Amino acid sequence: MKILVFLEHHGNELQKGSLGVLSKAASLGDVDLAGVVLGSGVREIASPAGKFGATRVYVCDDAALEAPLPQPRVDVLARVVRDEGFDAVLFAQSVLAADIASALAARLDAGLNWDLVDLGVQDGALVAKRPALADTVYVDVGWTGEPRLALFRSGAFDPAATGGEAELVDVVAGFEDFSLAATMIEQAHEESEGPSIEDSDVVVAGGRGLGAPEKFELVEELAKALGGAVGSTRAVVDAGWYPYATQVGQTGKTVAPKLYIACGISGAIQHKVGMQGSNVIVAINKDPNAPIFEYSDLGVVGDVHAIVPKLTELVRERRRG
Ligand SMILES: Cc1cc2nc3c(=O)[nH]c(=O)nc-3n(C[C@H](O)[C@H](O)[C@H](O)COP(=O)(O)OP(=O)(O)OC[C@H]3O[C@@H](n4cnc5c(N)ncnc54)[C@H](O)[C@@H]3O)c2cc1C
Repeated sequence: MKILVFLEHHGNELQKGSLGVLSKAASLGDVDLAGVVLGSGVREIASPAGKFGATRVYVCDDAALEAPLPQPRVDVLARVVRDEGFDAVLFAQSVLAADIASALAARLDAGLNWDLVDLGVQDGALVAKRPALADTVYVDVGWTGEPRLALFRSGAFDPAATGGEAELVDVVAGFEDFSLAATMIEQAHEESEGPSIEDSDVVVAGGRGLGAPEKFELVEELAKALGGAVGSTRAVVDAGWYPYATQVGQTGKTVAPKLYIACGISGAIQHKVGMQGSNVIVAINKDPNAPIFEYSDLGVVGDVHAIVPKLTELVRERRRG
């Protein structure tokens, strides 16, 4: 089976999500696995993909690929997929990847399964898992034709550096006129401090139990002491207490840090699906019957306003000592 993984990059780095998908594909066993990197000045960026299981990386280095616009990328991808006869193309969720995957599906008249959380092989064919019914069940999904296109939830897989060297294969750029019609006028980045919640080893998340928006300071301080990022629930985002970029869950981000500390969060199923892959889950909640305790490794029954500052102080002391 020939699988191609779209390797997204920002700055000079391949994205963790893409490398996670690559590692997952490598773990399937008998696959001819390649990556593809599209951009301007990206040759250097491509090499590390070998470590995560790619035997080849197709590189298209062209000024027309400088801006993160989908259509020129679809042109190159469609050609690589057709010329090289790939059976499947895998993407890690991002705004750009979702645009490219759907446009590529239209271009190749192929089927795209999205919002996937797992991938396997059954009777020689790819089968993926997708949450359904408001994330309360997982269903197996397949494809009726080829190539099979798949878009995975962010944080679905961890990158695993188990591979070796990848051969770099240069792809000559060629674009449709209509693909160059859009130009990027301006790119703005939201100012953020510290690590992003998807990449951080520690996420300290706050919920409505904090009581007021300004109480998020407690969570921020603990996150800072642990070198982590701040997460939140939809209830607090909807209330305007904290930015949507930090929302964890079904309609927010999926995270899988080493440590997830939930402060004043009830643990609704829609929140759970976004953080249940965390290695260790610690919950602080004043209600001993809060659902979050059912899937926490460590539960503290008590008031966040009393416990979180003490915890922060203890962490600081440990770090100082
Ligand atoms: C289609 C759909 C999609 C959704 N998507 C998401 C999503 O992506 N992410 C998400 O998070 N939610 C999502 N939700 C909402 C979800 O169902 C919950 O409503 C939400 O997660 C609750 O947020 P919360 O835990 O902050 O608030 P609450 O449910 O109000 O819980 C607050 C908790 O804080 C505790 N508490 C109160 N005071 C204190 C205190 N002083 N000290 C300690 N504990 C205290 C309470 O005991 C309670 O358990 C979605 C819902 C729907 C229907």
